Amino acid sequence: MKPLRTFTLPLLLSCLAAGCATTPKDPFEMNEAAESYVKLVLAVGQHDPDYVDAYYGPPEWRSAAEAAKRPLAEIGAEADALIATLEAHPQAGGDELERLRHQYLTRQLQALAARVDLLSGTKMKFDQESKALYDAVAPTRDAAHFQSILARLDAALPGTGPLIERLEAFRKDFVIPRDRLDPVFTAAIAECRRRTAEHVELPPGESLEVEYVTGKTWSAYNWYKGGFHSLIQVNTDLPIFSDRAVDLACHEGYPGHHVYNALLEKHLVRDRGWPELSVYPLFSPQSLIAEGTANFGIEVAFPGAERVAFEREKLFPLAGLNPASAARYYEVQGLLQGLAYAGNEAARRYLNGEIPREEAEAWLVRYALMAPDRAAERVRFMDQYRSYVINYNLGQDMVREYIEKRGGTADNPAKRWEEFSRLLSSPRLPSGLR
Ligand SMILES: [Zn+2]
Repeated sequence: MKPLRTFTLPLLLSCLAAGCATTPKDPFEMNEAAESYVKLVLAVGQHDPDYVDAYYGPPEWRSAAEAAKRPLAEIGAEADALIATLEAHPQAGGDELERLRHQYLTRQLQALAARVDLLSGTKMKFDQESKALYDAVAPTRDAAHFQSILARLDAALPGTGPLIERLEAFRKDFVIPRDRLDPVFTAAIAECRRRTAEHVELPPGESLEVEYVTGKTWSAYNWYKGGFHSLIQVNTDLPIFSDRAVDLACHEGYPGHHVYNALLEKHLVRDRGWPELSVYPLFSPQSLIAEGTANFGIEVAFPGAERVAFEREKLFPLAGLNPASAARYYEVQGLLQGLAYAGNEAARRYLNGEIPREEAEAWLVRYALMAPDRAAERVRFMDQYRSYVINYNLGQDMVREYIEKRGGTADNPAKRWEEFSRLLSSPRLPSGLR
């Protein structure tokens, strides 16, 4: 598609409908503010290679950003001016999406300004940074909280020796062999897509491809290309356990990142002609919604016992694993999920300079029960993405709470899918979930 046409046509139509050629009105135009925002995001991307996660707007906007390489101070000043303009023009009337749009644009710009400050050398504490960039602060959990979960795991994994060693011994029977990885992932993606398509109208022609890579700090990544297409990369540096197949297929694909991006493109960029969603700045509130929906999407797609049934009947045989052990594996996995916030604690202490790298790794081994090589990989992730770590577990909890509050509880799957799909198609902010 030609993105430029997508943007200008709805503008032109709304202009004709409003008769703007003859009726002078306030020169402030949301689409113009949105266009400036996109260009600012692309400008920050010239200073920060991780910043622009996806962009499928007009290619000439990107080339212009590359050619100009605007200084950070200038970008920051323009962001502040644009925030002031938006605040001077509060959204009056319009539907819910238009109100969310105004809040979204303002808050995304504030996060952009904060990222510019960080890139310019400003130091922030972990919670201050997550509030500025992701519009949320993760709760603090002390060691005693994790100890109680560890005690339950201790009872679930009998034997002698340290718990982490017993867990590693238990888990070694659940590694997907490298040569079975692709058929297992392909089957997981097909099932996630089938389940999602039963409840969500996917844009026509949407597609994704999977690539296996090495040497990354993340375990998988969705690169959204626009035109309803995603490239999903899976990192094979470390052994991939059986739970990762469905987790990653849902999280990166259906109904996670791929569907989220495709629905935003369909409903907001194409149907409404809003350019701001054609760019996705990674260090912004949008990431909490993206990661939170991607994680919560796993339980939406596979409620209750359906997950274990699918693993036992389809994926375990494909991976050459013993199907009779699937239920036991997911029982232990369920307990491990309670340790998700241990990663936030390690990151908070490490990034605040309270503990050195080795202690952060040791904390992850002790309280998140990560193998040492995985803990080392996670601390490298913290170096690169910093307080981004909260988006996964806090995002998941905030999204679940929001969907359930609106009636989308586990015992009402139709309503759950409906609310979930609406959230995936809207520019809602993390603070708007509360
Ligand atoms: Zn993700």
